[in-house]
Amino acid sequence: MSDSGKIQFVSVVVPVYNEEGCLQELIDRTVRTLESTGIRYEFIMVDDGSRDRSAEIITAAADRHPDQVIGCILNRNYGQHAAIMAGFSFCRGELIITIDADLQNPPEEIPRLIEAADLGNDVVGTVRQHRRDTLFRRTSSKVVNYFARLATGVKMSDYGCMLRAYRRRVVEAMLQCNERSTFIPVLGNSFARNTCEIPVAHAERAVGESKYSLWKLINLQFNLLTCMTTIPLRMLTYFGLLTGFCGFLLSLYIVVRRLLPSGDAWANGGVFTLFAVLFVFTGVQMIGIGVIGEYIGRIYTDVRARPRFFIERIVGRKSAD
Ligand code: UDP
Ligand code: MG
Repeated sequence: MSDSGKIQFVSVVVPVYNEEGCLQELIDRTVRTLESTGIRYEFIMVDDGSRDRSAEIITAAADRHPDQVIGCILNRNYGQHAAIMAGFSFCRGELIITIDADLQNPPEEIPRLIEAADLGNDVVGTVRQHRRDTLFRRTSSKVVNYFARLATGVKMSDYGCMLRAYRRRVVEAMLQCNERSTFIPVLGNSFARNTCEIPVAHAERAVGESKYSLWKLINLQFNLLTCMTTIPLRMLTYFGLLTGFCGFLLSLYIVVRRLLPSGDAWANGGVFTLFAVLFVFTGVQMIGIGVIGEYIGRIYTDVRARPRFFIERIVGRKSAD
């Protein structure tokens, strides 16, 4: 497999979920940009069970540009990362670029990613300049990026940005991972030898709203955490040890105070303190059970080994290779 030498064939994969408002502009701008590179390309749009006209728009575009615009229609909503995996499963490019459908990352940046990959990088990440998101999203990203760096050891600063390029062998390695709760940028980095990051522009969502509700976001963050590391489980043990030790010191203190003169009266007054301590410990235990539950839930879905997505049909592809 040649690492050096210029990339000859690029696949762009976009997950689409209820994006009828910006889809046409996305198609026009992406196709125009890809045409301008002069490299062979395919633009794969994966419809993740949209309930609006997205699938129709994708099918129409695939009819207009056969073999260059390809639609992949999933039967229901599987989530952004599963949709991207569906696109990966049949893309043919040497370099595979993922991008969001909402135009927050301008498709015009794609040639710069290709250039960076041409320099011999397996994964090209991007850092959003002047990020246009809410404070909550930005803060949660910081936490997630910190853990992702810890887990993968790859020092990338913006794991949340989906405008990324992966060499074919990295994508093939990702496809071999059967777990359902994946977080693609982190997974990709774990198979890369050379990575780099380039700054890219970031815009506000043009139309529609974020497809991530608070719950979906929390789930995503847990996916990211559990897909790469069992550190939280270990931290739990350390935390348990620490609280256990503090509890021991506290009980020692209580016993000693009880034995001192006037200790009887003091102990009576200390009942509520004990309650407070008890609540703290119960809380810690609950958190612990919750974290274990997050892992067990994911183990359960993986053990069932249901397909991670189901492609209903592929439109716009002529050749079978
Ligand atoms: N998306 C998807 N399935 C989902 C949720 C989102 O395919 O269940 C797609 C969505 O259409 C968009 C991308 O994933 O192309 C990122 O979603 P969004 O822009 O809503 O996320 P945010 O920018 O708020 O992180
Ligand atoms: Mg977005």
